[in-house]
Amino acid sequence: MDEIIRHSGSRVPGPDPAAPVPRPHPGPANSPVASPRPRAPIAPIMNAQAKNFLLNLLNTPSPTGFEMPGQRVWAAYTRKHADSVDCDAYGNAWATLQGSSKKAPVVMLEAHADEIGFMIKYITPEGFLRLDRIGGSDYATARGRRLTLLGDNGPVTGLIGNTAIHIRDRGNGGEKAPEVHELYVDVGASKPEEVAALGLRVGHPAVYADAAETFGPHHLIGRALDNRLGGFIIAEVMVRLAARKKRPAATVHAVNAVQEEIGGNGAKMITHRLRPDVALCLDVTHATDTPGIEKAKHGATVLGGGPAVTHGTCNHPLVVQRLVETASRENLPLQHESSSRFSGTDTDKIFTIRDGIPSGLVSLPLRYMHSVVEMADFRDVEKVITLLTAFVESLRPGDDFRQRL
Ligand SMILES: [Zn+2]
Repeated sequence: MDEIIRHSGSRVPGPDPAAPVPRPHPGPANSPVASPRPRAPIAPIMNAQAKNFLLNLLNTPSPTGFEMPGQRVWAAYTRKHADSVDCDAYGNAWATLQGSSKKAPVVMLEAHADEIGFMIKYITPEGFLRLDRIGGSDYATARGRRLTLLGDNGPVTGLIGNTAIHIRDRGNGGEKAPEVHELYVDVGASKPEEVAALGLRVGHPAVYADAAETFGPHHLIGRALDNRLGGFIIAEVMVRLAARKKRPAATVHAVNAVQEEIGGNGAKMITHRLRPDVALCLDVTHATDTPGIEKAKHGATVLGGGPAVTHGTCNHPLVVQRLVETASRENLPLQHESSSRFSGTDTDKIFTIRDGIPSGLVSLPLRYMHSVVEMADFRDVEKVITLLTAFVESLRPGDDFRQRL
């Protein structure tokens, strides 16, 4: 991590994930606090292999519909910690660890592999590119940013034009954010032929050029943390399960699904194929602990506050109950979120597949989602890995999450 992303002197590389997990609810000072189960120190998640894998995964452009470069990075790493790794027609990749008991439920841990981005919509006679967005790209922050365009001759750097403030029509002070069709990309060409010579045409995708980096002792910033961090986390769960002396009773599929950002298409395909008995979907959620966010509207989730579980809609009560019990047994702090209509994640697609898959959403708090400065806390990452690993290990032969009358 150091040579790629170390900041100037001020910031130290990489957090110490082995930092002891604070006990959640210490009782009054003199009350005999039940000592938590003696536990092996938390294995640091950031060994050299994991670090390189995380950076490689984050810095491999994989916009929706063009996920294969990232999927190959994910598969190459996960394959070392699973019985098999495979992908389907559209590139949904999954790693499988066979459980020791056929009677234990098959569990799917799902994250999405795709990131938001842009696509070339039109090339002007002067050689500028007009864009469409892929997924929920925040085009209000686009002007003046660098893009990596994924052309036929490899990546091409372009910049999103930003007319100088001195000569920009700012409409008597009430300047509004540009619409996506008002944005243009400059690749240094002066006519369409020069654009073509760069290997670019209408339809080629692009992502912001910003790379991931650590930010202080505990934080990670960059683009595409949503949801490549999820792909990293489910891979690390496989690493831990595979390293155990005893295999888990349950068979586990770690799934890195495609096309979440445009509607969860991949999750539908792969859930239909794998038909798990229980599914946990892992995605990022809004940390609402920064200025200007109304908690009455968006709830209260804090960065560094631990994993979040969600209640309602696609979140099966028995699955959520098992998550809450597991977190308490592992002394993990848990944040709670509400879902009254839909969760806005692949869980919405997974739980309705075939005759219904008992599902639950586990979320990693994230600030500034869908920007190039998405911010996550490594301590949350560690706790999510621990929670998912312990959930898989809690599954016993005969466990059944289907409701009973
Ligand atoms: Zn996401």
